[in-house]
Amino acid sequence: MPETLITVDLKASPYDNPKIHNRWHPDIPMACWVKPGDDFVLETFDWTGGFIKNNDSADDVRDIDLSTVHFLSGPVGVKGAEPGDLLVVDLLDIGAKDDSLWGFNGFFSKQNGGGFLTDHFPSAQKSIWDFHGMFTTSRHIPNVKFAGLIHPGLIGCLPDQKMLDMWNEREIDFIATDPDRVPPLANPPFAKTAHTGQATGDVAAKIAAEGARTVPPREHGGNCDIKDLSRGSKIYFPVYVDGAGLSVGDLHFSQGDGEITFCGAIEMAGWVHMKVELIKGGMAKYGIKNPVFKPSPITPHYNDYLIFEGISVDEQGKQHYLDVNVAYRQACLNAIEYMTKFGYSRAQAYSILGTAPVQGHISGVVDIPNACATLWLPTQIFDFDINPNASGPTKLVTPGMDMPLSLDL
Ligand code: ZN
Repeated sequence: MPETLITVDLKASPYDNPKIHNRWHPDIPMACWVKPGDDFVLETFDWTGGFIKNNDSADDVRDIDLSTVHFLSGPVGVKGAEPGDLLVVDLLDIGAKDDSLWGFNGFFSKQNGGGFLTDHFPSAQKSIWDFHGMFTTSRHIPNVKFAGLIHPGLIGCLPDQKMLDMWNEREIDFIATDPDRVPPLANPPFAKTAHTGQATGDVAAKIAAEGARTVPPREHGGNCDIKDLSRGSKIYFPVYVDGAGLSVGDLHFSQGDGEITFCGAIEMAGWVHMKVELIKGGMAKYGIKNPVFKPSPITPHYNDYLIFEGISVDEQGKQHYLDVNVAYRQACLNAIEYMTKFGYSRAQAYSILGTAPVQGHISGVVDIPNACATLWLPTQIFDFDINPNASGPTKLVTPGMDMPLSLDL
C-alpha cells in the first residue's frame, strides 16, 4: 500500500491540523516531501472543513463563514522541482473516507456567497447525497441516481511572491470598481481566518496578511472545478517555487459543468492517491502558462441527452453582445423550467444541474449579436422517461422530501 502522508480526523477542527492550509502563499512550509516517481495518499477534509452537516436543515449553508474556505491538504514538496518545471501528477484513485460516505450540495444565500442563479434562488438550500459504492442518490431529490465522476475541485502548486503580488493587485483593483456589490466581485486577503499550515510567528503573520484566497481558479490551476479532472487523469502543473508545493482538496463525488450551485458540487471528505514526476524546464519547452491535463480512460457512460439551448438575451429581454455567461444562464433556466413539469421543485431541478454529470457547451460565439450555450441533461439518470412526447409530461409518483430552505435572519 502507498504511504498516507497526510491524515485528517473529520471530528477535529482543520485549524488543529498543521498539514492543512486555506490560503495560497509561497512561504507556507511544506507539510511533507516526496521524490519524483513516488506515489502516496493524502486525506482531505471537505472544502468547508466539516461545517456542513448531514441533516435536514440549510442553516449551516446560510451561516457559514466563507472566509474560512478552502481547507487544503499540503503543500507536498517534490525534491528537485524548480521554477519553470512542469509537475506531472497522476490521479491514480480518489475515494470517500469510510466514516463519511455522503456528500452535500447547496445554494448560498445571495447575502453570503450567492451562486450562478442567485437572483432566482436568493435563499440558502441544501441536499444531502448518499454514496452506494460508485453511485449516489439523495433523500431530498427523488427519482435520480447516477455514477460518480469523482474529482478534486481544487489542486495546484504554490505561487511565487511575484505571482501572488500580481493576483492581489489585480483582484483588489477589481473590487474597487464596485466595492459594495453583493455578492462581492472578489475577496481580498483576510488574516483573521487564515490557516497558515505549519508556519509560526512572523512568517505566519505575513502569510495571513498576504495569502490569496482560494475561491478563484488562477494561472496555477487551483479551484478550477473541472468535472473531467477525475481519477485516472494526468495533469501538468507549472512550478513556481523550489519543491513545487502541491496542494489538493475540495473533493467532488460528482458535478455538472460550471458547478453552478457554488455550494458546490457533491462535496465530500476523502482521499487522493497520486504519483508525481517532473519535466525539467517544461513550462518553456511546451509554452505552458496554465495547467494542461489528459482525461481518465474510465468515465461513467451516459450517451443520451436532452439538450437545452440558451442565447444571450436575458430574463428581462435585454440583448447582450455574444455574452456566454448570459446564454448559459438561459440554458440552465430553460432546463429547470422543463424539469418542474415532471414534479420537481425549482430548487431540486437546480440541484440536479449542479450535481449530475450534466455537460455545458459553448456552442456559438460568432453569430452576432447572440452567443449560444447548451446544457446537456443526461436522460439516463432519471428512473422515468424525461423526453418530450405527444401525451405530455407525467408527474413523478414519489415526490419525496423537498430540499430544506433557510431564510436570511
Ligand atoms: Zn467544491
